[in-house]
Amino acid sequence: MAHRVVDCRGWRLSEEPLWQHVEHNPARGELIEIETLGDTLDPTTVWHFSHWLQPLSANRWRMGSTYAWSHFEAPPTISARTTLEWSLRRNWRGNFRVVDCYSGVRPAIRDYLPVLGTHPELPNLSICYGFGSHGALYAPACTDWMVQHLLENKPVPVNYDNRRF
Ligand SMILES: Cc1cc2nc3c(=O)[nH]c(=O)nc-3n(C[C@H](O)[C@H](O)[C@H](O)COP(=O)(O)OP(=O)(O)OC[C@H]3O[C@@H](n4cnc5c(N)ncnc54)[C@H](O)[C@@H]3O)c2cc1C
Repeated sequence: MAHRVVDCRGWRLSEEPLWQHVEHNPARGELIEIETLGDTLDPTTVWHFSHWLQPLSANRWRMGSTYAWSHFEAPPTISARTTLEWSLRRNWRGNFRVVDCYSGVRPAIRDYLPVLGTHPELPNLSICYGFGSHGALYAPACTDWMVQHLLENKPVPVNYDNRRF
């Protein structure tokens, strides 16, 4: 039997009755994967023009992402694919084809801040969540704060505490 549980189920926590005091605002995002034909983009450049491109291999790139606040589990849409394709065509003259389309859901919060710490009524239950579009930025510091909170009983930052709502 676990002594302490840290709930890290991403946007699924918005469906969890134990965390309904948190002001969830999950945001769906769609992405495309493209293959460049002929000239490719320079992989040493950071490509960002309201949408970003991530190099996957010599001529494969992932491009994202759109925003939507419903239909979290729907299949990828033509409209998101078209938005991303046109965004690339407006900003780059090369040829490409779309080889895949997929979607995910960002675990976002109404105030766009992470959600950490211990449940207000269940001392053995904690949460580490709410990184929204900034998982790479927030996760390292937030997991450090959670380790200190759980092992050394230190409070998490007040503006990130799940009890702020
Ligand atoms: C389209 C899109 C674009 C993004 N772009 C960026 C970006 O450019 N830069 C950036 O920093 N961040 C970006 N993010 C955000 C980043 O992905 C998230 O902030 C980060 O993944 C959140 O990490 P997490 O561990 O809290 O949740 P998640 O990564 O969602 O992980 C939660 C895990 O819990 C699992 N889980 C859920 N329910 C259960 C269950 N009942 N039992 C067991 N396991 C369960 C899930 O399968 C999942 O593996 C993007 C997200 C999306 C969707």
